Amino acid sequence: MQIHGWGNYPKIDAEILEPTSLTRCANELQTSPLIARGMGRSYGDSANAKHVLQTTHLDHYLHFDSKQGNLTCEAGMTLKELLKLIIPKGWFCRSRLVLVSSL
Ligand SMILES: Cc1cc2nc3c(=O)[nH]c(=O)nc-3n(C[C@H](O)[C@H](O)[C@H](O)COP(=O)(O)OP(=O)(O)OC[C@H]3O[C@@H](n4cnc5c(N)ncnc54)[C@H](O)[C@@H]3O)c2cc1C
Repeated sequence: MQIHGWGNYPKIDAEILEPTSLTRCANELQTSPLIARGMGRSYGDSANAKHVLQTTHLDHYLHFDSKQGNLTCEAGMTLKELLKLIIPKGWFCRSRLVLVSSL
């Protein structure tokens, strides 16, 4: 599959691994050198490589302490999903279409 960052250049052919659980993710990490990738919205080519670990399926919410504002979740949760959880509880963050892990 061809991938690129937000700048649309360079475009490279990559093998994309998409683990759906932390166990599978840990297994993939044993196999070959990989770069983690989220929504691919970085301005440069920072998430581009021949072997890519797409982490968007690892997006489970685990816990939110609404008094302290501390959220625990898997790395692939988008800020869009995070906002759905925290806004009703009186909290906010500014971006939306990126992953928690990528910031
Ligand atoms: C239109 C636009 C507006 C923006 N506005 C803002 C803004 O207001 N504030 C701001 O701070 N940024 C902003 N950004 C920048 C954006 O937030 C960052 O580039 C962010 O890293 C993109 O997240 P992503 O999930 O698309 O990451 P990707 O582009 O997929 O990856 C970015 C980096 O994170 C690493 N990464 C991804 N997933 C993981 C993971 N699971 N574990 C470890 N590392 C991982 C990648 O290896 C790479 O180095 C904006 C970008 C765009 C395109």
